[in-house]
Formats: sequence, structure tokens, C-alpha cells
Amino acid sequence: MAAQLSPGDTIGILGGGQLGRMLAMAAARLGLKTHIFCPDADSPAFDVAAAKTIAPYKNESALQAFAETVDVVTYEFENVPARTADLLAALRPVRPGPAALAVSQDRLTEKDFLTDLGIATAPYRGVEDAGALARAVGELGRPSILKTRRFGYDGKGQVMIREGSDLGAVFRGLGGTPSILEGVVPFIKEISVIAARSLDGEFAAYDVTENVHANHILSVSRAPAKIDAACAVAAVATAKKIADALDYIGVLAVELFVTKEPDDGRLVQKIRVNETAPRVHNSGHWTLDGAPCSQFEQHIRAIAGWPLGATRHHGAAVEMRNLIGDDVNAWPDILREPGACLHLYGKAEARPGRKMGHVTRVLDRDE
Ligand code: AMP
Repeated sequence: MAAQLSPGDTIGILGGGQLGRMLAMAAARLGLKTHIFCPDADSPAFDVAAAKTIAPYKNESALQAFAETVDVVTYEFENVPARTADLLAALRPVRPGPAALAVSQDRLTEKDFLTDLGIATAPYRGVEDAGALARAVGELGRPSILKTRRFGYDGKGQVMIREGSDLGAVFRGLGGTPSILEGVVPFIKEISVIAARSLDGEFAAYDVTENVHANHILSVSRAPAKIDAACAVAAVATAKKIADALDYIGVLAVELFVTKEPDDGRLVQKIRVNETAPRVHNSGHWTLDGAPCSQFEQHIRAIAGWPLGATRHHGAAVEMRNLIGDDVNAWPDILREPGACLHLYGKAEARPGRKMGHVTRVLDRDE
């Protein structure tokens, strides 16, 4: 199997949501085909791909048949079962590799990995049972946040522990599964770094992005983030350290908290990593209209073994707003607005909390 793809080759993508859809569109622009593997028959990515497989992620014969039709395998979500990744990796290059999946699937493994690299995170403790939770709360104090180690997203699988919280009930409420307790980071901003590392180890990062969440779901991203220059440099250096440590190939997202902490008698901005994602990320959607090479193209270039593209943002700043649930009904007005770039994901039903699309605006002034 060639390390480097040629136009006409096929990329296999596990997952058929909007991220898979936008990856497939970026691949098509570069003359590459995509084959989407997803259990859901009405996956948005199927509309724009050359081939599809509808099967569970653990269906080994379907995975085998899928692998035989593709030149490289990637994924749009981090909860790919380890056995699935291993089975595919024995047949085709899987990029990013299984190490990146292992780290990002488990919040405790991830925090230990970051700590070993000397990267600051929230204070944390592994929690196996209710007794360990009581000890951890004794050490980290209240408020603190209990999160399941695996399968959490958009605020799901996490609970705030406050004064008076019944720890046994909280632990059972999260399913009694292995969890992690985190101290609350008094952040002033949430930022992310969308970066990429190529087969040759070349590294590139987009401008650091500032993110605002509503109801635990990303609402607005804006680049460049309004943070101190030294803080932005440190955030990008952190992403590079993570990518190099994982011998990473593809786009990597790193979400961080910015705090103000005393240092030598002054208050300075510091960063702590919240979590990483071994994939393209919602906070990088602004790059579709706001940078010469979008995060989707960048990921395709990296996993194809091609050189990385340019990342500097257009205009003075770029803003991206998610269209969540009924927000999507504003699409006719957005279409009429000069300079607003509308992206719809082709999802039939606008359920509350569901990401239906997004709109990007390249701004002339960074107000
Ligand atoms: P997560 O699913 O871990 O990304 O958490 C979702 C959101 O909860 C984050 O974007 C933060 O706004 C908040 N959050 C999570 N962990 C912490 C923490 N240790 N300290 C403060 N806020 C947090």
C-alpha cells in the first residue's frame, strides 16, 4: 500500500455525520473518492460520497470488505472501538493511528498522557467507585465535576458536585462507571487549537480560536482569539507537543481553558488543556470560508501523505455560528445576507440540540 495517495484513490471514513460529509466534499475537490462506513441509513455524509457501507462498527466481514475498497482509513469521531481500528490497521493505513484514539477515548488516559508531557490540565483524580469519589472530593473540594471516563460529549456524562451533593447518588446517576473527578478551572475564556501534522512530520496550526458554549454545546467560534500573544504561542506549542508525541497524522483539535494566574507578582494568562480530539472539530468550521485551506482539506492532505496547506485566516477575523435545532429555520435570511456563508448538513429533522448547519462570516474589522 503506497504511503502517498494519488488523485482517483479512495479514502475510507468511519462515521457519516456532518464532519464525514465535509471531509468527503474536501476530498472530492482534490479528485479523491470517499467510502463512508456508518450504521445509520440516513447519514448526512452518504449524500456526497462515492460509496457507502451501512453496518455496525463491529461487523468484521463488513469492515474487511470496506478495507478492500479503500487506500487509507480515517474517522470523524473518536469512539471507534479499539478492535475495529486494529482490524482495519492490519489491512490498510489508519490515520491518525490507534494511539491517538486510545488517548482521546478515555479522559483519565488522556489526562495522564498530558501530565506526562508536562502539559497543565484541570486537577483530577480517577474514580472507580463511590468510596474513591468521596476521597477525591475530599482532595479536590467542591465544586468539582465528575465525568465518565468514556463516551462523554456536549456535556453528556458529567455532573457538577456542589455543597450538599449526595456523592453515592451522583456516582450511581452517572451509571456507576469508571469516572474522573476534575477540579473546576476558573477560566476567563475557552479556546481551541486546530492543528495538523503530515506524514513527514510537518506541523501547521490555524489561528487560535475562541469558543462560546451554550447549554454545553458550541455556539460561536471566533478566530483569532483575543488572548495575549504569549498565550496563543503556548497553546500552539502545546498542540505540537501532543501531535509529535503521538506521531500524529491528520488534523488534531485541542480544547483549552485560559486562566489568569499570578506569576512573579503579575496576573498573566495561562493555559490548561481540557480535552483533545483526533479529528476535525466544530471549532474549526470557520476555516471552510476563512482560510486558504480548510481543516477538512488539511486532514485529507495529511492522511493522503500530501503537503499541508496554508492556514492564515482571511480578513481581520472570522466568526462561525452553529445553527442548532430550530436556528436552521433562519436559512432564507442568511442566504440574503451579503458575505454570510451558509452550510447545511442535509439532516431531515431539526431536533433540539442537533447541529443542523453553520454560518461563517469573514469580518473586515476585528471589533
Ligand atoms: P467537556 O465535555 O469536558 O469538554 O466539558 C464541556 C464544558 O464544560 C467545557 O467546555 C467547559 O465549559 C465546562 N468544563 C468542563 N470541565 C471543566 C473544568 N474542569 N473546569 C471548568 N469548566 C469545565
